[in-house]
Amino acid sequence: MKLYNSATHKKEDFIPHEPGKVSMYTCGPTVYHFAHIGNLRSYLMEDVLEKFLRYDGYDVKRVMNITDVGHLASDADTGEDKMVKGAKREHKSVMEIAQFYTDAFFADCKKLNIKYPDVVQPATGMIDDYIKVITKLLDTGYAYVAGGNVYFDTSKLEKYYVFNDHDEEDLAVGVREGVEEDTNKRNKNDFVLWFTKSKFEDQALKWDSPWGVGYPGWHIECSCISMKYNGEYLDIHCGGIDNAFPHHTNEIAQSEAYLGHPWCKYWMHIHHLNTNSGKMSKSKGEFLTVSLLEEKGYDPLVYRFFCLQSHYRKSLVFSWENLDNAKAAYDKLVARVAGLSDGGEVDQAAFERYKAAFIESVGNDLNTSLGITALYDVLKADVNDATKRALIDSFDQVLGLDLLAKAAALQEKAAAPVEGAEEIEALIAKRLEAKKAKDWAAADAIRDQLKAMGVEIKDSKEGTTWTRV
Ligand SMILES: [Zn+2]
Repeated sequence: MKLYNSATHKKEDFIPHEPGKVSMYTCGPTVYHFAHIGNLRSYLMEDVLEKFLRYDGYDVKRVMNITDVGHLASDADTGEDKMVKGAKREHKSVMEIAQFYTDAFFADCKKLNIKYPDVVQPATGMIDDYIKVITKLLDTGYAYVAGGNVYFDTSKLEKYYVFNDHDEEDLAVGVREGVEEDTNKRNKNDFVLWFTKSKFEDQALKWDSPWGVGYPGWHIECSCISMKYNGEYLDIHCGGIDNAFPHHTNEIAQSEAYLGHPWCKYWMHIHHLNTNSGKMSKSKGEFLTVSLLEEKGYDPLVYRFFCLQSHYRKSLVFSWENLDNAKAAYDKLVARVAGLSDGGEVDQAAFERYKAAFIESVGNDLNTSLGITALYDVLKADVNDATKRALIDSFDQVLGLDLLAKAAALQEKAAAPVEGAEEIEALIAKRLEAKKAKDWAAADAIRDQLKAMGVEIKDSKEGTTWTRV
């Protein structure tokens, strides 16, 4: 496949370190609150990538961290630990909210058909690994101790900015966040590997270390967790675009300084989900969660369909109107699949031809909207229904839209005896009699009676049909 690589700023042929195998790392959630659907867009597109790679024949190992310590309110190592803040808000312990929001995150993922990663590792379970890596970084001169904390020295690197060629001033995080700069830092973008001293004393979780009792910085967890489970060479590292700097930039800095060779080859960044008022965030406007979508009557897979309609490297604008359009299109697609007949022989030659076209389309930098177009192409194709069903089932291994299952549910609903149908049919027959007798008042009264029962009738040349509304 071809994948746009943020590290080289171009689309490249994907060639894994080990033929046939893909090591994949995904930055997991900081479990201090529910994920909003903007965060989930990233996980959803990463899920499609993983499924596509498997579909294309690769053996994929996907690793994800759970940030339950060390991620401060500002990505520039300042402010309160998000987990401590969350625990205070809910009058619970840090571990309690970590468990609660980890479960909530994976429940949301399940509803969106996002596969559970092969490895999920909470940051708090890897303290010895951080200490080992930080010790080596200190020994080799890439790190220093100042004011009680251990910092990574970004001036020791030949190249620190990997993902963009912006002016350093533009990327100074401390300034960007409008918070006090840490005066212990030798260079503006140096970052904390291990905290023993910070502005707040009530950090819940602390561990002993050669540099005093403290806790790890946010970035070191991803490097160590990835290296532990995926080894020294990582094929694909994924995450939201806002993690590119400083988080991923710092991951590369410390991993390569530690390993002494290049670490991750392909970097995939998913762009923002915006609302009409800008980037979606927890603090701004309506807090959009999967549960809220469900409360409003949307199937979470409608949101998945909505995301797949656009490319992951473009910002996507969320509005209820846009979601309604996606719902209409998704429902129609399911209805068309439900209309396909069962049985028959699959035309293998046609199947392979359409499958190859699908791989070609989606394999071009994960073009999911073309993947959806491929579904419509199959529905329109001059092949039998058995072949169409087999292809839809096949493509859906990547798209994850549950099309055959939803279509079956729709057919079942249509075939099920409707409660009160006899009474309704009787009233319709009575209305027909009234109409024949030109008793319009009686006919209208029956129509109103049906309406009050939640039944809408439609007259046509073929007779009267009814639906529940
Ligand atoms: Zn990360």
